Amino acid sequence: SAIELEDVVKEYFSHGEVVQAVKGVTLDIAEGEFFSLLGPSGCGKTTTMRMVAGFEAPTKGLVKLHGQDVTDVPPNKRDVNMVFQSYALFPHMSVWDNVAFGLKQRRTPQEELRRRVGEMLEIVDLAGREKRRPREMSGGQQQRVALARALVNRPRALLLDEPLGALDLKLRQAMQIELKRIQREVGITFVYVTHDQNEALTMSDRIAVMNDGLVEQLARPRDIYERPASAFVAGFIGTSNLLAGTATGGELKVGGGRVLVPGHDGEVTVTVRPEKITIGVDELGPELSGVRGTVAEVVYLGTYTSYSVSLADGVDITVFRQNAHDSLAAAERGDSVWLSWQAQHSYV
Ligand code: ADP
Ligand code: MG
Repeated sequence: SAIELEDVVKEYFSHGEVVQAVKGVTLDIAEGEFFSLLGPSGCGKTTTMRMVAGFEAPTKGLVKLHGQDVTDVPPNKRDVNMVFQSYALFPHMSVWDNVAFGLKQRRTPQEELRRRVGEMLEIVDLAGREKRRPREMSGGQQQRVALARALVNRPRALLLDEPLGALDLKLRQAMQIELKRIQREVGITFVYVTHDQNEALTMSDRIAVMNDGLVEQLARPRDIYERPASAFVAGFIGTSNLLAGTATGGELKVGGGRVLVPGHDGEVTVTVRPEKITIGVDELGPELSGVRGTVAEVVYLGTYTSYSVSLADGVDITVFRQNAHDSLAAAERGDSVWLSWQAQHSYV
């Protein structure tokens, strides 16, 4: 393991009260992994990272790096580096000097310094821009300088706290691909903090979804999306439909129809993703889950159309339909429809 957290708790005293920012987090991050901490603002992501870096001491629990307990080791003695949203570059220094700074401080021989800085600027695609000052560069380029400066020291792990947060959407998406490429090229562990689900899904080998100081699910992107461990995870990652009730005989009666939940009885909450649902007019075969409703809204979104369908019991279901071959709507507002999906697409 590159990084292990064992039941880590962090409490702050604020205005005479105890605030539990992190309530008991256990993580095991593998060497060379691209690992993301994903969750809404205030859920404890930054606090967790700061404990890994050593800027905060846990109130309880252990932090291990590469098998060694570093809970009481200061940040500069830990083999990790951190990159922040504010790039914190030296404004009066050139790109080259910004990247070389750490190596100079450690009195790295000239020859080696030149080689390593050159290599790193190559990797972040800034070769030829060595003489520029930060203010003469775009946000994306500045972020790459910050990345090169952190990586040139060859940390065994790099911690990135919302590093793309200040960039606009197009540039952010380009940098996501770029970051993933850089991580593969340097082959070190990246721990990435974000509140953006798309960002986490795009880049990560595994994701820990955090909520209110706790990890709600730790899994690969596909499993997080397809098999959300809680209603919170289902709702936070992508769009999801939730159907709840009491199942009998492996069936949940809802919306004038039924949801098949083979092997389940009693109280259940079922999630089904909008793109798994088909809109039709006829009730479908017994092998399908199906509910009846009225189309409340149709929104054309380019690659797909989103339908909002109200069921008799007040539940709203969202359906996405690809506009692959035609852009004809499957139904109009006010239409009475059947929604159906295969049993395997219900996740209980
Ligand atoms: P995130 O990075 O996920 O947005 P943080 O780790 O920054 O969340 O914060 C988690 C919680 O801890 C928040 O409620 C925040 O207000 C609180 N918190 C963070 N740092 C401090 C501090 N130094 N003093 C008091 N409360 C703090
Ligand atoms: Mg934060």
